[in-house]
Amino acid sequence: MSDAYDLILIGGGSGGLACAQRAAQYGQRVLVIEPKPLGGTCVNVGCVPKKVMWNAACVAHAIEDAGEYGFAATPGAHDWNALKLRRDAYISRLNGIYEKNLEKRGIVWVRGLAEFHKPNTVMVDGHEYSAPAIVIASGGQPQVPDVPGAQLGITSDGFFALDQLPQRVAVVGSGYIAVELGCTLQALGAQVCLVVRKDYVLRDFDSMLSQALMTEMKADHIDIVTHAAVTGITLDSQGKRHLKLTDSRDLGGFDCVIWAVGRVPCTPDLHLDRVGVTTNQQGFIVTDPFQATNVAGIYAIGDVTGREALTPVAIAAGRRLSDRLFDGQVGRHLNYDLIPTVVFSHPPIGTIGLTEAAARQLHGDEVKVYHSGFVPMYHAMTARKRRAEMKLVCVGKDEKIVGLHVIGAGADEMLQGFAVAVKMGARKVDFDDTVAIHPTSAEELVTMR
Ligand SMILES: Cc1cc2nc3c(=O)[nH]c(=O)nc-3n(C[C@H](O)[C@H](O)[C@H](O)COP(=O)(O)OP(=O)(O)OC[C@H]3O[C@@H](n4cnc5c(N)ncnc54)[C@H](O)[C@@H]3O)c2cc1C
Repeated sequence: MSDAYDLILIGGGSGGLACAQRAAQYGQRVLVIEPKPLGGTCVNVGCVPKKVMWNAACVAHAIEDAGEYGFAATPGAHDWNALKLRRDAYISRLNGIYEKNLEKRGIVWVRGLAEFHKPNTVMVDGHEYSAPAIVIASGGQPQVPDVPGAQLGITSDGFFALDQLPQRVAVVGSGYIAVELGCTLQALGAQVCLVVRKDYVLRDFDSMLSQALMTEMKADHIDIVTHAAVTGITLDSQGKRHLKLTDSRDLGGFDCVIWAVGRVPCTPDLHLDRVGVTTNQQGFIVTDPFQATNVAGIYAIGDVTGREALTPVAIAAGRRLSDRLFDGQVGRHLNYDLIPTVVFSHPPIGTIGLTEAAARQLHGDEVKVYHSGFVPMYHAMTARKRRAEMKLVCVGKDEKIVGLHVIGAGADEMLQGFAVAVKMGARKVDFDDTVAIHPTSAEELVTMR
């Protein structure tokens, strides 16, 4: 006998919980299966602890500048472990709030790993659960390359488990997680070496952002090693780690190596083969625009689908799926175009829409680009100068804005409002017609010539 529900969620992370709660609002009997504390990657080993560490790094920079603003503060030792304990306590509180929210809505939580058994039925520790709708929201996990000594490195999960600040750290990778962890560690007192496979970081972003970030990271004394493919890690007699590179270079003396080379979907435990759910070459679950897999009654949302791996994306897809399945909102689905993103580097990046290169490829000579680069007023007082760069990518006679890219202090908070304008189809003239807010960095976006 199996326990019967209207909806089963595999995974209690951002997407799974959002989908479950929306379905419960519509009066459905909902089961969430999750082996770990609720909240998934975002709450436990992603956005939330990362943002706490980013905030700490911002405080470190502010203390550096404080003297020039008339304060007697001088940079001192940072107590990493004290911050970690406070951060962990905050996350435990969030785990508890998520649990209470499920209870309030009458959603059942089974702790364990789900595996498919037969159509409409999953198994957890030998017990069967069935529902006409099953949503796979099992997310992803950090990839560890298959090279000798790989286990001598940690991943972003291991970064959040560190009790002490490692002194010399190699971060291997060039994506947003690599630059975020690298910038934070450096600001908090480590000596960071970023090991990049090609010639620059954030390769999928507008090149203005990648180049500006690399300049700022170098100004913060982060060592960026390019054209460096790691073939293994060794340990010396002092307990230091050494990276071997394909071109026989040897980078050495690290207390810690962090792999930030991508994420893989959490699908192996699910036994998708038993029900015939299709995955792509990288193992991500293939879905149509309505989050439906190739198997009737089985859906997938969030990171496990290989689409934009962001918490609000997983949440939006999950809620819309429940709206469609349980509230008769025919055709409701997430439009994956124009999704804004922030990189919590130092300084931060905010970006939405097409890069200049992508726009030129699509629209050729119809593209017009506006650019502004400056040192924000905050740094008029400080010896530490950090630039801001902004770009509007416009298309056609009416100069519709198809891309907006910002790096600089405040970019993280600046982007959300501008994303609404871009999503609504704003043109350059709409920006020109908006009165600036002075003195801010954001005003540059509406005063570009
Ligand atoms: C270091 C880092 C920083 C990030 N920063 C940001 C950020 O600033 N902003 C942002 O928007 N996004 C950020 N992300 C991405 C964000 O965390 C993910 O996009 C989001 O968590 C995806 O949600 P999800 O529901 O798809 O999966 P997850 O949140 O990963 O949840 C999946 C859950 O499924 C469970 N699970 C796996 N297999 C099974 C199984 N067989 N049975 C039952 N349960 C299972 C897992 O234990 C997990 O709890 C970050 C990620 C990382 C790693």
